[in-house]
Amino acid sequence: MIKLAVTGAAGRMGRCVVQAVHANPDVELSCAVEREASDSLGLDAGVVAGVGGLGVAIDSELAEQFFDVLIEFTTPGATLNHAEHCRARGRRMVIGTTGLADPDKERVRELSGEIAIVMAPNMSVGVNLCFHLAGVAARTLGNDFDIEIIEAHHRHKVDSPSGTALRFGEIVASELDRNLDDHAVYGRRGRAGPRHRSAIGFSSVRGGDIVGEHCVLLAGDGERIEITHRSSSRMTFASGAVRAAIWCMQHERGLFDMQDVLGLNCSGSASDLKSSR
Ligand code: NAD
Repeated sequence: MIKLAVTGAAGRMGRCVVQAVHANPDVELSCAVEREASDSLGLDAGVVAGVGGLGVAIDSELAEQFFDVLIEFTTPGATLNHAEHCRARGRRMVIGTTGLADPDKERVRELSGEIAIVMAPNMSVGVNLCFHLAGVAARTLGNDFDIEIIEAHHRHKVDSPSGTALRFGEIVASELDRNLDDHAVYGRRGRAGPRHRSAIGFSSVRGGDIVGEHCVLLAGDGERIEITHRSSSRMTFASGAVRAAIWCMQHERGLFDMQDVLGLNCSGSASDLKSSR
């Protein structure tokens, strides 16, 4: 039985991960962690997640807990601290937190030289299939189509564009031999001028309880293609994270993404992501 730790256990994603762990007979919850000021400290993680008592009280410390893999959906700062902890104790890690700055991603990449880490801005199987489809579309359509990436999320989301939208951008940029930093355009306002043909545009919508929607729009002369994914439940991300935790037990070290976990081998994705993280 694989022992899992969950950080951010009382958060929106953390509660779903506890539910997904409870539903999977191959894994068990060994510890659940929240930030020091959380109201949930001392409560049973299963009760907080709505699946009934699991005998695991939510703690503020990961330090003394035993686990095989940590599943992390918190904040970038907490993620880095927990990644250092996992490296020091030789534990594997699944990182779902988004919004990590480039130096943080670089540190995660360094730590993966000693432990196995799966890091993905979106752990749903459907989104990862769309990553693959977006790569095929960009490769097939080449420079004749304008590419815009539109995403929508709930009102609480703090980072934008979403990590998933940026990942779509990295994939299409890689297929078109463009550096995303040089070609990304984030929102438009006023007299922004005509669209540059090589731009990769991003637009973000925030509102209500939208779990997550992404559309890669490829607009040409006389036709357009839209690759759209809509999430209606966070359980899709949570189940993917548990699947990634089980999968990474096969690896001692290295940085992986969901393309690796799912065997999708999206062209130009995993290796580029690893170098850009
Ligand atoms: P949330 O705010 O509901 O939950 C985050 C939780 O982390 C909170 O309960 C908070 O108290 C806790 N936390 C903060 N600092 C901590 C610390 N030092 N130790 C332990 N716990 C700590 O947010 P959420 O909607 O669950 O999203 C969390 C992250 O996951 C965000 O970055 C979001 O973008 C990302 N996310 C990723 C995926 C994916 O598939 N990769 C899917 C959904 C959300």
